Amino acid sequence: MSDKLDAIGEPERAMHPVRPDYSDAAKAWLARPQKLLIGDRWLEGSSARRIDVENPGREERIAEIAAASIEDLDRAVAAARCAFETTWGRMHGRERARVLLRMAELLDRDADLIGEIMTIDNGTPLASSTPVVRLLGAELFRYYAGWATKISGEAFTPAVGSRVDHDFVVATLREPIGVVGAIVPWNAPAGMMAMKVAPALAAGCAIVLKTAELAPLVGRFFGELMLEAGAPPGTFNLLHGHGDDVGAAMASHPGIDKIAFTGSTRVGRSIAQAAAASNLKRVTLELGGKSPVIVFPDADLAEAIPAVAMACFFVSGQACMAGTRLFVHDDVYDEVAAGVAEVARNLSLGDGLAPGSVIGPVISARQKARIEDYVRIGLEEDGATMLVGGEAAPSPGHFIRPVLFTEVRADMRIAQEEIFGPVLSMIRFRDEADLLREVNSTVYGLSGSVWTRDIRRALRVAHGVDSGQVAVNYHAAMSPETPFGGNRQSGWGRELGREGLEPYLKTKAISINVGPRA
Ligand code: NAD
Repeated sequence: MSDKLDAIGEPERAMHPVRPDYSDAAKAWLARPQKLLIGDRWLEGSSARRIDVENPGREERIAEIAAASIEDLDRAVAAARCAFETTWGRMHGRERARVLLRMAELLDRDADLIGEIMTIDNGTPLASSTPVVRLLGAELFRYYAGWATKISGEAFTPAVGSRVDHDFVVATLREPIGVVGAIVPWNAPAGMMAMKVAPALAAGCAIVLKTAELAPLVGRFFGELMLEAGAPPGTFNLLHGHGDDVGAAMASHPGIDKIAFTGSTRVGRSIAQAAAASNLKRVTLELGGKSPVIVFPDADLAEAIPAVAMACFFVSGQACMAGTRLFVHDDVYDEVAAGVAEVARNLSLGDGLAPGSVIGPVISARQKARIEDYVRIGLEEDGATMLVGGEAAPSPGHFIRPVLFTEVRADMRIAQEEIFGPVLSMIRFRDEADLLREVNSTVYGLSGSVWTRDIRRALRVAHGVDSGQVAVNYHAAMSPETPFGGNRQSGWGRELGREGLEPYLKTKAISINVGPRA
């Protein structure tokens, strides 16, 4: 950090000192080699590139993986095509539902170990990672198991000219789209994978999934458990690899019918371009965000203050829907600023496995440097004040303490650009029309929340926020039933809920001439 930053920060406080040993189960699991799953075979990747996997809370290497090559990708796509055409894609929804339900049971059975591995892999505190496995892993498979038996089209008599013609019937069929390429980020791997794998399998698609190179380990659970659950070989194929080679090759692969992507807006754009330039495969994109949190003077501040602080600082701000722009009405601005500052100063920073850790590390040294650059940018922006933050965090581990900027203007870079770190920008407002203009002034439109006791105002403002989801009097709105996704440069399409099934289905209309005309 710069001298300026160090000088402004508070005196260094001790970090939660505990670094518990990995459990015996985790040690044994980590000792086994990490491989690719193609069909029902676990193989070493054949690329010359390696992936060094680090525990970001300890800066220690926990695995080394041979990355997948383009030939591995071709083999995985062929295995998926075979499963789609001969086994999984031909099964009745009832049979697919049984496999999905069994997968849910297995994820629940192994949730503690999967959660621990996720924590070791990406630093998320255990109190957050295990619930992700259960609520966005197991419960999601259960939810989409229900849909597997409810996919159907409709039948009707078409109009010919101005009349309904009873000699014709049109039947529509909902068919699986085919082979799906899923590309996921590192920030909540179990949830990100399940959000794609469960609906795709419910629809009857086969999958090639590429993990994120920064946190690939949870992928192996999915591969092992899918086979244990009874998915035919090739239904789920697992690749580890780099975005710039195997990831990019998936986007332009002629054998892949659809890409389901979660990650940055920059990469999402390149995937859409590659898809268009290759076989015009379908694409859904869950991208970045800069979500607004809006506090009105009549909000229950005792409840709102800790919640709006955590809307940003949860998982060190590394959540796409993080509420990183806090718009507060002038009448309560100072009170909310003082309250959020108090929460931010007292958040327990520590190793993800340490009981009581609320803030874990950020994912990498590179990401930490990027966040620190944004803090510098904030300090240099005319008018913004850093009320909390700036002091160095102890190492090893890529830790960064929560940062709160006040008196931020909506057009400043720290209020416009996705930082993906624990940096909260507080913006003052008076007038609702100005507020909405500023709220909608970024290129993103993912999430948001409104805090008020006035339900009319809550609904009016929720309508005015241009984003995929808006919560009232809470922030994180993710459940298996609730559609999730972004507007504008936060993405294309929705995941979760009934709508999350749609991108994996295509419609065929069969028109039948039922008899000779009189
Ligand atoms: P990223 O875009 O760098 O990487 C995501 C995935 O894409 C990784 O698996 C990576 O290997 C792959 N990739 C990289 N370059 C590629 C290319 N050229 N072609 C194909 N694949 C490529 O993102 P990240 O740093 O892993 O994740 C953070 C970003 O993800 C943030 O912007 C965050 O907002 C976003 N995110 C969005 C959601 C959502 O639901 N909207 C959820 C989580 C994260």
